[in-house]
Amino acid sequence: MNDDEKNLLWDILWKHRNHKLEVARYGGNAAPEDVCLECLDCNEVILDAELYTICPQETE
Ligand SMILES: [Zn+2]
Repeated sequence: MNDDEKNLLWDILWKHRNHKLEVARYGGNAAPEDVCLECLDCNEVILDAELYTICPQETE
């Protein structure tokens, strides 16, 4: 992830400070199709797990 992408993510998250956030799962518990972080105040999807992937850092 480069600095531009980091700053963008910061901006996206900061915009929703003090808002009601919810993690929603779509497609059923057994085989979820998508997981989203949503802002209930803005009625907006902040992060969509279909679009973003966070990988653990390799510690070797
Ligand atoms: Zn919001």
